[in-house]
Amino acid sequence: MKNFRAGWFFGAFILCLSASTAAIAIEDEDVAMDEGEEAMLANSAQDPDTVMLGDMVVERDALEVDGNPSSRGAAKARVKLWQDGVLPIVFHKSISSEKRKQFFDACKIWEGVANVKCKKGYYKRRRLWVTQSKLGCFSLWGMGFHFVALRRWMNLQATGCWSQSTLLHEMGHALGLIHEHQRSDRDDFVTIHSKNADKGILGLNVLVNFNHQGSNPLTPYDFRSIMHYSRVAFSKNGNDTIVPKPGYEEYLNIIGRVPSISESDAKAMAALYGPPSQSN
Ligand SMILES: [Zn+2]
Repeated sequence: MKNFRAGWFFGAFILCLSASTAAIAIEDEDVAMDEGEEAMLANSAQDPDTVMLGDMVVERDALEVDGNPSSRGAAKARVKLWQDGVLPIVFHKSISSEKRKQFFDACKIWEGVANVKCKKGYYKRRRLWVTQSKLGCFSLWGMGFHFVALRRWMNLQATGCWSQSTLLHEMGHALGLIHEHQRSDRDDFVTIHSKNADKGILGLNVLVNFNHQGSNPLTPYDFRSIMHYSRVAFSKNGNDTIVPKPGYEEYLNIIGRVPSISESDAKAMAALYGPPSQSN
C-alpha cells in the first residue's frame, strides 16, 4: 500500500486465456501454480477486463459510471464476496515458508473479527494467487464476477509489502474493502492536496488514489482504518497530500500508520461476511 504501489499499469496487450491451463478444483491443498499461470505472470499481462486503481485491481464490471468502485459501505452491493468467506491462497513458489506464515498470521486478525478464513489451495474452483515478482503491493478487489478462475491476483513485492499492516491492507482489498480516504464523505474529514502529489502517468496517481469512490458507507469515517493512506502518500515534494480537517488534527500522524485493523474495519468486514465463526 503506502509507499510501494503498483509499478505497472494496465496497458496494451492481448491476453489469451485459452492458452492457460484450466483451473483444476483442488481443495485445501498447498498446490502450486501451473505452467499456464506462470506464463501469465512472466508476460506481465494485465487482464483486459480489469483496471488498476492505485493498489487495487478492479474488474470493469464492478466500476461505477465515474470509473470508481463502490465504497466500503456500498461494497456489498457491488463487490463479489468470496464463497463462504474463504480466501483460497496459492503462493508463488518463490515465497518462503516464513513469509507464508506471516501472511496467515495476519489473516488470523481478519478471521477474528468476521466470518472469513484464509486457506491454502483452491476452494470451490477459486483461488487468489499471491506473488512477489512485480513492483508494488496490490490486490484484486473481492473475488470478482467472472467465472474464469484465472484472474484473482495479489502482489506483495519481495521487500516492502510484508509488514503486518500492509498484509492486512491488501487482504482488506482482496476481501472487498476500498480506501477510507476515498469514501464519498471524506471531504468532511480530510483535505486532499493534490498539488503535492506525484501525478504519475496521465495523472493516474491522483485519479486513482485520491478521488472519491461510491457512497453510503456503513461505518463512521475512521482515521485509524487500515485502509487509510498516510499524510504524505504519493507526495512528490515531501509535503502533505492528505490532511485531517480542523478539529481532527490529532490524526495527522496516525492516518496510514496504524499497525493493525480498527474497530470500524472489523465492523465493515463483519458487515460484508457476518460475525466470526466459532471455528475460527
Ligand atoms: Zn490500498
